[in-house]
Amino acid sequence: MPRLPGARPSFTAWCVHCGRQTSAPVEVGVMDRGSGAPLVQYACPEDATRYGAGPSPADEIR
Ligand SMILES: [Zn+2]
Repeated sequence: MPRLPGARPSFTAWCVHCGRQTSAPVEVGVMDRGSGAPLVQYACPEDATRYGAGPSPADEIR
């Protein structure tokens, strides 16, 4: 994985919408699996915005 100058500590997750790995995941929900720890779901910034789970819910795209 390439290192970018000034980048935050590496944290990647897989987008629940498009399935791609993103280095800037946005938390969009938590799935309670019943046993064990809840699974936090992430989306890439693009899909987080598209599905309305972005940092500003008022910023709807219609
Ligand atoms: Zn995505």
